[in-house]
Amino acid sequence: MTPPQAPGDRRPAIFVGHDVYRRAAYGTLHPLAIPRVEVVVDLCRALGWFDDGDYRTSPRASEAVLAGFHDAAYVRALRDAAAAGRVDRAIRERYGIGTMENPIFAGLFERAATSVGGSILAAEIALGGAVAFHPAGGTHHGRRDRASGFCYFNDPVFAIRRLLEGGCRRVFYADLDAHHGDGVEIAFAAEPRVHTLSIHEAGRWPYTGTLDDANNERACNLPVPRGFGDRELHILLDGVVIPLVERIAPDALVLTCGGDALAGDPLTGMALSNVALWDAVDRLVACAPRVVVLGGGGYNPWTLTRYWSGLWARLSGRTIPDRLPEAAQDVLRPLQCDLVEEEDVRPEWLTTLADAPNLAPPRAEVIALRDRVGARLDLARQLPAERAGWDEERIALGTGDTTGCMR
Ligand SMILES: [Zn+2]
Repeated sequence: MTPPQAPGDRRPAIFVGHDVYRRAAYGTLHPLAIPRVEVVVDLCRALGWFDDGDYRTSPRASEAVLAGFHDAAYVRALRDAAAAGRVDRAIRERYGIGTMENPIFAGLFERAATSVGGSILAAEIALGGAVAFHPAGGTHHGRRDRASGFCYFNDPVFAIRRLLEGGCRRVFYADLDAHHGDGVEIAFAAEPRVHTLSIHEAGRWPYTGTLDDANNERACNLPVPRGFGDRELHILLDGVVIPLVERIAPDALVLTCGGDALAGDPLTGMALSNVALWDAVDRLVACAPRVVVLGGGGYNPWTLTRYWSGLWARLSGRTIPDRLPEAAQDVLRPLQCDLVEEEDVRPEWLTTLADAPNLAPPRAEVIALRDRVGARLDLARQLPAERAGWDEERIALGTGDTTGCMR
C-alpha cells in the first residue's frame, strides 16, 4: 500500500465514471429512470472541474469477478434475463429480478457490472493514496444471490473486498443514504476487519437497521426521525460517528452518499441540506488515509446532481460559486421528474449548487439516540476533555467543535 500523505496535504481526488450511464435505464415508471450520474459529469464539466487525470473510465467487472461475491448462478440468471429481455416466473421469484422494483431493461447487465468495476477501480485508486469518487456506486441493498431495492449487485462490497486484498487491516463503511445499508452489513457480518455504520430514516424500507437488530457487534445503526436536519446530523457525527471512527482508526473508509437524505427527495422524509452532507463527508475523509466515496439512492434529479457535483468540488478542492454560470444552469434546466411536481421545483435548484442550511433546532429524540448509542459503545470515555461536557447550546448555535479527526 502507498503510505498516506502527510497531514495537511490535500490528497488528489479522482472521479470514476462511464458513458454507459447516459443510456436510458429502468424502463419508464421507475424512480431511477431519471438522469443522474451523467448530469453530474456534465455539470462538473460545465464548471471546469475536470483537469487532465481527474476522470477515469470505469472498467466492467467480468462474470468471474462478480462471482467472487455473488452466487454464480445468480450472475448467470441476471445475464440471461437481461439478454432475453424477460424472466421466467421461477427465476423472478428466486432472484427478485424482472419485478417492478428490479426491472429487466436493455443494457442492465453491462450497467450493473460497470458499477462493480468502477467500485473496484475506486478501491485501487484509494490504495494508491488518492480519494476516489464513484457516484454510480452505492448499490448497498444488493444481496449475494438476489436483487433488492433497485440494486442488482452490491458494488460497495467489492470496494471493501479490494481494500482488504490490498492489505487494509480495518475498513470502516459509513452509509449516509436515507435507507439502511443492509446488504453491506449482512455481507460482512462474519468479517472482523470490517465495521459498518448506517444513518437512515427510521421506519422506512427495508425496515431493518433498528437500534437493536444489528447482526454483529461491529455494525452500528442510527435510525433517525422524519425531518432529520443539519444540526441533528452534526450531533450524531460529534457524539457517535467521529468518535467511533477515531477508536477503530481504519486503514480505509468507504462512504455511501445517497442523495435521498436531502430535503426535497420524493421517496423519503429526511431534510438535510447538501452543505451539511458535504461537511460530514469532509470530516469523515479526514479520518482515514484511504477513502472511497460512492453515490447511492436519490430520486430528485435537481437536488441529487447538485449534491454530487458539489461533493466532487469539495473532494477535489474546487470552489463552489454562489451562482452557477449560464453553461451550468443549462445542464439543470432541462431535467424532468415524474415524482416531483413542477411547482415544487425550487428556483434555486436551477441557479445554485449550495443549499441554505436547515437550521431547525435538534430534537430531544435525536439527542437521546446519540446518548443511547454513545453509552452502548462507551464512546464518552474517549472524548477529549473539551468535548466530554456536551453543550447543547453551543451545538444549537452552530459553534460546536466540528473538526473531529482533524485534531
Ligand atoms: Zn436510499
